Amino acid sequence: MSDSEPTSPVKSSTRKILAVLGRYFAPQWRPSVLLLLLLLTGIGLQLINPWILSQFIDQAVAGAPLNTLLKLAGAFLLFALLRQLDTVAESYLAANIGLRATNQLRSDLARHCLNLDMAFHNARTPGEMIERIDGDVDRLNNFFARFVIDLLGNLLLLIGVLILVWRIHWQVGAALTGFSLATFILLNRLRDIGVPLYREARQANAMLYGFIEERLAGTEDIRANGGVAYVMRRLLEHARRLFRADLKANLMSVSVFGFTRALFMAGTGVALGLSAFLYLDGILTIGAVYLSYRYTEVLLQPIEVINRQIQDLQQAGASVARVQDLLARTSRIQDTGTTPLPQNGALPVQFEDLTFGYIDDDNATGAPLELVLRGLSFTLPAGSVTGLLGRTGSGKTTLSRMVFRAYDPTGGAVRLGGLDLRAAPLADVRRAVGVVTQEIQLFHASLRDNLTLFDPAVPDAQIESVIRELGLGDWLDDLPDGLNTLLQPGGGGLSAGEAQLLAFVRVFLSDPQVVVLDEASSRLDPATERLLEQAITRLLTGRTGIVIAHRLGTIERVDNVIILERGQVLEFGARAALASDSSSRFSQLLATGLEEALV
Ligand code: ATP
Ligand code: MG
Repeated sequence: MSDSEPTSPVKSSTRKILAVLGRYFAPQWRPSVLLLLLLLTGIGLQLINPWILSQFIDQAVAGAPLNTLLKLAGAFLLFALLRQLDTVAESYLAANIGLRATNQLRSDLARHCLNLDMAFHNARTPGEMIERIDGDVDRLNNFFARFVIDLLGNLLLLIGVLILVWRIHWQVGAALTGFSLATFILLNRLRDIGVPLYREARQANAMLYGFIEERLAGTEDIRANGGVAYVMRRLLEHARRLFRADLKANLMSVSVFGFTRALFMAGTGVALGLSAFLYLDGILTIGAVYLSYRYTEVLLQPIEVINRQIQDLQQAGASVARVQDLLARTSRIQDTGTTPLPQNGALPVQFEDLTFGYIDDDNATGAPLELVLRGLSFTLPAGSVTGLLGRTGSGKTTLSRMVFRAYDPTGGAVRLGGLDLRAAPLADVRRAVGVVTQEIQLFHASLRDNLTLFDPAVPDAQIESVIRELGLGDWLDDLPDGLNTLLQPGGGGLSAGEAQLLAFVRVFLSDPQVVVLDEASSRLDPATERLLEQAITRLLTGRTGIVIAHRLGTIERVDNVIILERGQVLEFGARAALASDSSSRFSQLLATGLEEALV
C-alpha cells in the first residue's frame, strides 16, 4: 500500500480538497446554509448566557427585587434550553450532510473501480480496495459535514468573544488576545509532532486487517498445509506493531490533551487574576469578573476546534489525494466502440496475429512483462465447437479472456462476427459472449440471485425450466426453499460439479452467441460427469463454442482442436482428421491419455 505524502500536505492538497469538496458539497448548499445559521444561533446563545448570569450576580449583590432576579433566571433557563435544541438540530444536519456527500462519493468510487481494467484489480487485494473506497471516504466524513462550517463558525466565535472581553476592559482584552495567539501557536507545533504517529497507527491498522482478510480467505489451505502456527506468529507481529503504534499515538494525544488543559487553566488564572485586581481597584463589578472568567472558558472552544479542524485537514489531504488518484485513473479497456454486434445467431470468432502479455499495473509505460500469447491466427466458424488443449500455463485461460475483452490485445486483433472487439460497445461484447470460468464464483445470496446475477426481471419459470433442462431438476427439488435457498458464502456446500452446472444455468439464462467454457480440472464422479456432458451439449447447440477441456468426454464432442504451447499454436485442425492422423500431436495425446498428458 503506497502512502505517498506530499512534502507540504496542507498547501499542496488544499486545491485538490477544494475540488472534491466543491463537487460533493455543492448539491447540499441549502442544508449547509441552514447549518451555518444554526451554528451562528448557537454561538449567540452561548455568549448571551454568561452575560445574563453576570447581570444576575450584579443585581443580586445590589439587592434587586426577587422579581427581577427571577426574570433573569427564567431567561437563563430558556436560552440554555434553546442552545441544547440548537445543538441537536445542528448535529443532525451535519451528520446528514456528511453522510450524503460521502455516500455519493463512495458509490462514484465503487462504480469507477468496477469499470477499471483487470490489470488494476489484479494488482490490489480486496482489503486495499475496501480501505480506499470506504476507509478514505470515511475519513472525509467529518470534513464534508463540518469543516467549512466549523472553521467559519468558530472563527466568528473567537472574534466575538475577544470583542466582548475587550469591552469588559481593555487590559483583560489585551491579555486574552495575547493568550489566544500563544495557545494557537503552541498547539500548532504540538500537532505537527503527533501527525506521523497517527499515520503510523493507521498504517499498522490497515496492514493488520489486510493480513487477517487474506488469511481468512485462505483458511482451508492454511489448515490443510499446517501453516497455522506460522500465520499465528505473523498475526502477533502485526498486532504488536499496531499495539506499539497505537500506544504511542494515544500517549501523544493524551499528552496533548493534558497540555492543552494546563494551558487553558493558565489562561483562566490570568483572566481571574487580572479581573481581581481591576475589581479591587473598583473598575470592574463582581458580575464583570464572572463574565471575564466565563468568556475565557468559552474562548478555549474555538481555539481547540480550529486546531482540530486543521489537523483533520492534513489527514483529509492524504485521503483526498488517494481518492483523486483513483478517480483520475482511466481504464485500459476503453468503451468507445459504437458499431453494434449482430444480436442473433452464432458468431464466428477470429484471431488475427494476436499477441498478448499481461502488464504490471505499476508500470506506467504499459509494456507487457512477457508475451503469453504469440502471433495467434485462426478462425472459428460460426456454430463450430473448438477444443483448446495445452499444458498448464500455455495460455488457454488467457486466450479465452481475450474473447470477452477482459484485456485488449498487445498486438493484432480479436474479431466477433468480423468486427474488431474494440469497435463494438463493451456491453454488446459481454452480452454476446458467455463465460464459464475455471473457478466459479458463487455469492452468499439466494440460488435465484446467483443464477440471474441479481436481475429480478427473469421469471422463475424460465430459471426452473433451464435448471431442469440441464438435468438439475432432482437437485432443485431436494433444496429446502427451491430457488430461494440461500447458498453458503463462496459456494461452500456445493460440489465442484454442481457449481459448474450452476454456472451453465447462468450462461444459459443470458443466452449468448458465443460460449467460452474453461473446464475445472477437478475430477468428477461418473454421475455428475454424465450430467455435465448433457449440459455442455445443450449449452453449445446453436452457439460458437470454445472449450478448454481437461476431460476426454468433453474433447470428443468438439469439431476442431487447437493445441497451444507457450502461447503459440502447435496444432490446429478438424478433430476427426487429427485423431485419425497418427503423426499428429493430438492423436499422441489421445494415446497417452488426455488427463495425464496435460498436467
Ligand atoms: P491452466 O491449464 O493451468 O489453467 P492456462 O493454459 O489456462 O493454464 P494461463 O492461465 O492462460 O494458463 O496462463 C498463461 C501464463 O500467463 C502463465 O505463465 C501465467 O503465469 C500468466 N498469467 C496468467 N494470468 C495472469 C495475470 N492475471 N497476470 C499476470 N500473469 C498471468
Ligand atoms: Mg487456465
